[in-house]
Amino acid sequence: MNTGTAGCAAAADTAPWFVLLAAGRGTRLAAHTGCAKQFLRYKNRPLYWQSVRTCAATQRFGGLVLVFPPETMEENAAEARELAGKEGLTLPLRFAKGGARRQDSVCNGLQHVPESAAFVCIHDAARPFFSEELVHTMLARLAEGATAVIPGLAVKDTIKQADSEGRVLATPDRAMLRAVQTPQGFDRALLQAAHAALNTPDNTVTDDASLMEAAGHTVWICEGEEANVKITTAADLRALDDSHSQSDRHAAARNEGHAGSTGESRDSAQGAPASPSDAASAAVSADRNALTVPCTGWGYDVHRYGGTRPLVLGGIAIDTTYTIAAHSDGDVLLHALMDALLGMIGKGDIGELFPDSDPAYDGASSVALLNEVMGLVRKAHVQLTHADVTIIAQKPRLKPWKQAIRSNLARLLGLDESHVNVKATTEEGLGFTGELLGIKACATVAGLARQQ
Ligand code: MG
Repeated sequence: MNTGTAGCAAAADTAPWFVLLAAGRGTRLAAHTGCAKQFLRYKNRPLYWQSVRTCAATQRFGGLVLVFPPETMEENAAEARELAGKEGLTLPLRFAKGGARRQDSVCNGLQHVPESAAFVCIHDAARPFFSEELVHTMLARLAEGATAVIPGLAVKDTIKQADSEGRVLATPDRAMLRAVQTPQGFDRALLQAAHAALNTPDNTVTDDASLMEAAGHTVWICEGEEANVKITTAADLRALDDSHSQSDRHAAARNEGHAGSTGESRDSAQGAPASPSDAASAAVSADRNALTVPCTGWGYDVHRYGGTRPLVLGGIAIDTTYTIAAHSDGDVLLHALMDALLGMIGKGDIGELFPDSDPAYDGASSVALLNEVMGLVRKAHVQLTHADVTIIAQKPRLKPWKQAIRSNLARLLGLDESHVNVKATTEEGLGFTGELLGIKACATVAGLARQQ
C-alpha cells in the first residue's frame, strides 16, 4: 500500500522511493564497539535513523524501505515503527531482509518498492549525514532525463594502483577521479532490470552505479558533500567522539541500546556527535587534519504590537490578545535567532537574505526561513552546539510558554534540549516594552567551525 505523504500526496503514484541499507554486519566496528555501525546510538536513536529523518524531511518520497540484518529484522522493524510513531513520521515504511552481499540487500529492498515509482534512491546507513539539498539535486537531474545520478567528490590524494605485494602498477590521472557516495539515484525500472541481468554470484560490485554502467547506461556524477562521510573504522568513530560533549555522553549513557558490553565500548558506541546539525558535525569530523575553532553569533530584533499578525514566538502560537505588526509572520524570537546564526557564519543578516521589500516574504513562515538559514550553516561546515535566547516583553506573561518554545527550538535547530535555553524578562515597565508598544528578543549561538 502506498499511502504517500502530505507533502507529495498528489504525486504518490510515481513518487520516488528510498531504500536504506542497514543490513551490514560492520565487522570492523563491531569488533570495537560490539554493534554494527548502523545501530550505534546517535541522539538516543540508532544511527540509521538520521538517514530516515533526512529522507522524510525532503517530502519527496512515496515511501522508504529499510533493509535490516535477517536475524534481527523483526526487532529492528519494531523499533523503527516505534520511533516513527514517537516522531509523527508519516512516510510509509517497509522492511526487507538483507542478503549475503550489499547488492543482494539492494535487490531484496527493491522488491518492496512499488512498480509505479519512477525513481529510487539507494543509500548506505553508514553515511548518516547527507543533506536534503543533495536529494533534491539528484531527483531534479533524474526528472530531467538522467537514468543514474550519483554524488562524487574530486580526489585530493594522488591515487596509485598497486598489486597485492604493494608494487605500484599505475598512477591514474587524479583529475579524472571521483570518490563516490550514496544516496545514489536511479530510474527504478532500469535499476531493477540491471539487477535482474547482472547481479550474479560471480559479479560482486560495491555500488549500484556499477551495475548500471555494466548494463550500458550513462551514470552522471553530481557534486558530493564533504560532510557525507562514511563511518567505517574505529578511527571514524573516535573522530565523531571528539566533537561530542561530556554532558551528552552522560545523557547517551543513560540509554540502553545496542552498545557493546564493556564500559569503554559503550562510551565509544554512544559517542556520536551532540548535534544533528549533522552534516556540519560530520564535516568537522571528516577531515581529521583540520582544526576546529569555536564561533559565536548574536542577534536582536524588535516588533511593534498592534498589527494583524497573531503573536508567535519560536514557532509557538501564544494565546494572547497582543498582536504583531510585521511583514513576515513576525516571530521576533526566530528573527533574532536567524541573525545570530548568520552572524556565526559571517553571512550578514536576515534583512539582506529575506528583504521585507520582497512580496515573496509577505506573511512568510519564520520556521521555513530558519530552515533555509540552517541550510547555510550546514553549507558553511559549522556545527551548531548551543543556543541561548531571551524574550523581552512587559506583557504577555511568557512563563507558561517557555518550555514549549525550548522544545520547538531544539527540534528546529537539531540540538538536544540541554543545549537550548529560553529566558523571558520584562524591563520593569521602562522603555517601549514597558509602555506595551512592542516586544524584543536577543539570541546568542555557539558552534564549531572548521578552520579554512
Ligand atoms: Mg523582525
